[in-house]
Amino acid sequence: LILSITLLTACDSNANTGGNLPSGAGGKGCTKVGILLPDTNVARWETKDHPMLIQAIKTAMPNAQIDYSNAHDNSDTQLNQAETDLANGDCILVVTAHDSVAAAAIIAKAKARNVPVIAYDRLIQSKDLNYYVSFDNVKVGQIQAQYIADHYQQYQKEGTIPNIVLISGSQTDTNALLFSMGMHSILDPMFANGTLKYISETFTPDWNSTTAQAEMEAALADQHNNIQIAYVANDDMAGKVIEALKAVKLNGKVLVTGQDAGADAVRNILLRQQSMTAYKPIAREAQSVADLVKALSNGSNVNTLTKGVTTSTFDGGNIPSILDSPVTVDRNNINSTVLADHYLVKEEICNGV
Ligand code: BGC
Repeated sequence: LILSITLLTACDSNANTGGNLPSGAGGKGCTKVGILLPDTNVARWETKDHPMLIQAIKTAMPNAQIDYSNAHDNSDTQLNQAETDLANGDCILVVTAHDSVAAAAIIAKAKARNVPVIAYDRLIQSKDLNYYVSFDNVKVGQIQAQYIADHYQQYQKEGTIPNIVLISGSQTDTNALLFSMGMHSILDPMFANGTLKYISETFTPDWNSTTAQAEMEAALADQHNNIQIAYVANDDMAGKVIEALKAVKLNGKVLVTGQDAGADAVRNILLRQQSMTAYKPIAREAQSVADLVKALSNGSNVNTLTKGVTTSTFDGGNIPSILDSPVTVDRNNINSTVLADHYLVKEEICNGV
């Protein structure tokens, strides 16, 4: 038994040094694409990214065959799904990591087969990652915080400094760290000069919105309901934070931020329950993936797509990247943004308004 384990391990590492392997040829000629998304809890992945990625890739490459998997919030599941895709001959992988660090294992497996990986939306912390398609995620945090800086006075009680709680996302998602960093770059000076009073920041495992509600309830209890602003990193969590506010009759009286321009959130903006959302046009993000997949498959130069933009990983990598810009949406520009883009339709957001 020990011998066979040793042999297997040896074969494995042989494989990594480029032994007798099916080759993904760095994507050239590839038509089999594996798409791996992280969870089914946060609305965007199944309602937007999943159909939009498939549509964009199929339109760019009508002969593409796509394997789709969802990791259901489990990094081991995601690694298994990637291994299955590779074993099935998928020769380009598009991965939104459940865990940005753990997903380095996926990169290692793909690299061993010369299969390029595109990290989609969330960076994967490996210098061997091939491409990264996302938004400027520091900017996402900045536009959320800028909204607070521009509107806090409307929620301020006369003669007092507004209390603010910060409900951030999952610490294992590099994006959550970038959103928080962007937010702090705007709000920390306001804490320092006494414009706003920082109460707490919590990171929320798996971006679980029920946990976010509990975080808000705890902050409200701790402050005897004296909270004027809730920086909430995304819409799914904002929806539950609003539930916590409803329970103490503060909904509509507290500035609540969000992200993703989800239909429920935009309806809550119209109903004055949520103040803003950071809208990220996912159709464009999916299109960038499709453009990259097509270029890799054709063996053409991808520099025209990445334009020299790179993103650094914790281990010193510089990953060629395509990064789009987020847009602030509040009750004043819903028509000219999410509706004009057909990202949402009126029926979804006007129900009950
Ligand atoms: C995405 C957000 C999303 C969050 C939770 C982040 O990585 O950028 O759009 O709300 O994950 O799924």
